This record gives sequence, C-alpha cells and structure tokens, in this order.
Amino acid sequence: MAATRPETMFAWRKHKGNPEPVWEEVPVPKPGPTGVLVKLLASGVCRSDHSLLTLEKQAGWFQPKWTLGHEGCGRIVEFGSDIKDTALKVGDVVALHSVPGCGAADCTECSRDLPQICEHSHHSGIGQDGYYAPYAVIDVRGVVSVPEGVTPAEAAVATDAVNTAYHAIHKRGEVKASETVFLFGLGGLGFNALQIIHNIGARVIVCDIKQQRLDEAIKLGIPEADIVPVGKSPVEFVAERGLLIDTVADFVGTHQTFDDAQDIVRRGGKLLCIGSLDTENTIHMKTGTRKRLSYIFSYGGQVGDLKEVLDLIAKGVIKPQVRPGRLEDFPSVLKDLEAGKIEGRVALIHNE
Ligand SMILES: [Zn+2]
Ligand SMILES: [Zn+2]
Repeated sequence: MAATRPETMFAWRKHKGNPEPVWEEVPVPKPGPTGVLVKLLASGVCRSDHSLLTLEKQAGWFQPKWTLGHEGCGRIVEFGSDIKDTALKVGDVVALHSVPGCGAADCTECSRDLPQICEHSHHSGIGQDGYYAPYAVIDVRGVVSVPEGVTPAEAAVATDAVNTAYHAIHKRGEVKASETVFLFGLGGLGFNALQIIHNIGARVIVCDIKQQRLDEAIKLGIPEADIVPVGKSPVEFVAERGLLIDTVADFVGTHQTFDDAQDIVRRGGKLLCIGSLDTENTIHMKTGTRKRLSYIFSYGGQVGDLKEVLDLIAKGVIKPQVRPGRLEDFPSVLKDLEAGKIEGRVALIHNE
C-alpha cells in the first residue's frame, strides 16, 4: 500500500487573511511516533467551516495555512513507530475525532476530563491540517473503529454533528427518561439530538422555523401534539398546555430562543446551551435566581462518546441525515449550507 502512495495531494486550505478556501497542492503527511496515516473515505461539511474561513481572530494554535475539514472517516494506511499495543490494523475503517486531547496527566484540561478543549493536542481541520484532502495524519488517541453497518459518510458526521449532540444531551444535560425536554432547532445537530432524546425515552417538544423539519420529526414518531406549529410562540404553546419543561435544549442560540428558554423552563430546570447563532444573549437575573435555573453550556464531544454514538448508529437508533457530495465541490456545498438549502449534513466522498 505504501508503494502506491503519492508524494503530494490537493487539499482545501485556509490561508490567513483569505476568506475563500484555496485548492492547493501539499505534501502527503507522514505519521509521527503516535500518529496514524489515513486515506480519507468521507469528510463531513460543518457550518463552523464558514466561521473558520471568515473569522480571522482565532486561537493561538492556528497556523498561517492549514487544511480544512474536521469530520472524517478513512482507512488506516500506516502507523507511527511508537504505536504497538493496538487492536487497530492497516486497512481498518476508522472514524477520526478532530480534538482527542493530549491525554497528559498534567494537562490543565485533559486532567479534568475536558479533552475537547485541550489546547496542546492537534486540532484536525480547526487551525491545523484536517480532512478535506485525500490523506490525513491523526494521533492514535483520536482513532475509533467503525462498526459494521455504519457507512463512511455516517461515521464522518458522527464525529461532530452527532457526537456534539450526544455529549450535550447525555453528559452535560444528563437527560432522563422521566423528563420533558423542549428542543429548539432541528438542523445538522438538533435532528440528531431529537433522535438521542427520543431514544432515552424522554418526552420531547419540538420547535423549528421550517415545516419540512417538523414533518421529519413526525416521521420519527414524535406525536403531532408535541410539535410547536411554525409561527406559534413557544411561551404560549407551553402555557396553554400547562407543560412542565425540565430541560430546554437550545441548538439555535438566538436572542429569541434564549429568552423563550428562560420563560418556558420549569422552576429548578436546566437550560442546555449548544447553538450560538447570536454571539451574545441576555441572562435574566431575576428569572434565573427565582426559578433557581441551571445554565449549562456544552461544546464538542469526547472519544468515549464517539464509540457509543457509532454503536447507536450501527443499531439503527440514530440515523444521521447525510447526503453525499464531492470533495471538489466543497465551496459550493458550504454556500448551500450557509443559505439553508441543505437538510441535515453533506459528507464529501473521496475516490478510493
Ligand atoms: Zn463542526
Ligand atoms: Zn490535554
């Protein structure tokens, strides 16, 4: 396999100061001691690719030029020299976690079980080389076997779009079957969250601005009575039905949804904040204190979550909404995503 590996490849890159992705020839990377060289099969396109391209004020690890793409699935080509004790082997299909953390015992974040915000490890496709290229190197800590029955496109979007939703609902929100959850937003992440909450067995009230997405929720088995009609105020909907909302899961994060969330959540309830469409929102101090609310923020997911997520996809419990695209078409796919023309996700499929 190594014999046929090319010296160079074309990749979609971010150049500092340029908001457009650059299709550029770069060397095929070589794995360091704990790295794994992977031939990509599918790379998920994420809305945050747009922010990564257009926002110039970024974290310290961002390089002047780097390959975009932070949701990947590929086939193992080569292991670094230090990787000995592993069940993985060359040819295995694996999902690639873009920020697995450094894992060091003295890391300020990893030591507190927060690898997704560790600043020491490689950030694939988030300021450092990622997956919009035929080959990528990733630390072995971020590599997870893809079980039978999960397609490369599903595995790619599982790494972020599903994993972020899973981490938020299970690990941060600790949503239980006995709860009533109000879910704002059925986009790329929110629709996965809906399936995850539904699988827990909790009642879920669904709100979105697009009828088509609400229809998808009904197809999933959400009773029509638990769907907020398009244009109906969530506050009125909850009040008229006398609903007690234990948890609001906000995958939108606008002024409107954040305000509504504080209104509709029951006393002692939880606000789970994942979306951040508006960069600033207002916490109503009197509401928050008198209702004794918990405001819980969630970001990303962990490698352990990804294993659980892939198993749930294999069992058919979560069906990520993903359709195929071509690597060459990344800029137009991203524009369509921004324009709201894409339901769910697109995974760019690579030639084998
Ligand atoms: Zn993303
Ligand atoms: Zn770390």
